[in-house]
Amino acid sequence: MARMAGRTGLAGTGGDACRCARFGLGARGGRWGSALHCFCAMHQSVMALRGWGGLGVWVARSSGEAARTYTSAPMMNRLPMSVTASPASFADDAPGPAPGLVLGIESSCDETGVALVHASGQGVPRLEAHALHSQIEMHQAYGGVVPELASRDHIRRVLPLATQVLAAAGRSLAEVDVVAYTRGPGLAGALLVGSGVACALGAALGRPVLGVHHLEGHLLSPFLSADPPEFPFVALLVSGGHTQLMRVDAVGDYQILGETIDDAAGEAFDKSAKLMGLGYPGGPALSRLAEAGDPAAFKLPRPLLHSGDLDFSFAGLKTAVLTQARKLGDALESRKPDLAASTQAAIVEVLLKKSMAALRQTGLRRLVVAGGVGANRELRQRLNAACQTARVRVHYPELHLCTDNGAMIAMAAAMRLQSGRAQAGRDYSFDVRPRWPLDAIDA
Ligand code: ADP
Ligand code: MG
Repeated sequence: MARMAGRTGLAGTGGDACRCARFGLGARGGRWGSALHCFCAMHQSVMALRGWGGLGVWVARSSGEAARTYTSAPMMNRLPMSVTASPASFADDAPGPAPGLVLGIESSCDETGVALVHASGQGVPRLEAHALHSQIEMHQAYGGVVPELASRDHIRRVLPLATQVLAAAGRSLAEVDVVAYTRGPGLAGALLVGSGVACALGAALGRPVLGVHHLEGHLLSPFLSADPPEFPFVALLVSGGHTQLMRVDAVGDYQILGETIDDAAGEAFDKSAKLMGLGYPGGPALSRLAEAGDPAAFKLPRPLLHSGDLDFSFAGLKTAVLTQARKLGDALESRKPDLAASTQAAIVEVLLKKSMAALRQTGLRRLVVAGGVGANRELRQRLNAACQTARVRVHYPELHLCTDNGAMIAMAAAMRLQSGRAQAGRDYSFDVRPRWPLDAIDA
């Protein structure tokens, strides 16, 4: 290891460093706060190297020979949006094996998630274990996610979580057939941590790896529930960063019917909550407060409700909440539950009406709700009632799997592999895609 560190200008090893340096791979982004991870196959230990300077992605193999740097991009300060390393000696075009046991790693934003999903044949893959660490407490002091802190915390959490998940499932690392990770969209530095660790594990274990689209993870997360949906369906994807209505005919077959032209529904919850002094993330806090309020107390706009299409806009709502809060002045404190309930009612009504319109437009009789806002109780109640009247089946992820988690990443990987839409690869190169529209998933 020391030799590789010397060659690349990095200094120091951390944790239970293994000095044999038989085999390792990793990524480090100084400005984004990632680190170089090396996984030693011989001693089953992982090291994190830290240092300063440019960004580098390495594949190093040294059993007597000097470690080699295959690719290095020293332009870190210009924030390159993708990083690749393609060592020809590891290229292997052979198709990946049947999914089997998939280890999934999620690190796109402020949650580190690791999970094991087992997929045999064409049945719905089964969740064996998952573990999650939320960084919410750490970011709360800043009122939002601090990317640098997020990346560093992922580094600290990802391997202990993997160990925890393997123990909970009664599995050993050697049993893992595929390592999956979130490739994007998300925070670049945070994505690099999960990608680097996943590729290091895959390379060290000799198992193929697969990068997964975070939103596809959300979209397929209801398949982890006790009542999984069947294709085709209309999907309402409502996360912190996205609000989309989609027609989903099969894994990878996604047609966007409408989406937000500005803020996402989750953002509307979060920003309105912030204006009311409810902290971060605001969605759950606002919806809790709303339970004690009158949803008709304030007349707030329902943006694009009658636009005739399936697009959304929530930026105006946030401004209306701000105006209302200012008008209330000192009375705001006592009227907060009413303002929260009115805000929630406006967001939920738009989501509900547009979802029902999408079902009518497509003629489909199944609705799948996914993403963090899908945990909102009022939204679930209103959708359940409307779908019952319209004789439409509605599916949600389990409540604890609505927000980011590793289970949905392992699940999406397993389903993509099962469907033949993707093959896990063995070249252990990776690129992260901080901005990655879902309709460009195969691009
Ligand atoms: P992302 O993938 O963009 O990080 P997630 O799918 O993890 O988003 O969802 C996070 C979003 O969900 C946040 O905007 C949060 O406020 C919102 N959220 C979570 N629970 C609730 C709830 N009960 N009611 C409303 N919004 C919620
Ligand atoms: Mg998410």
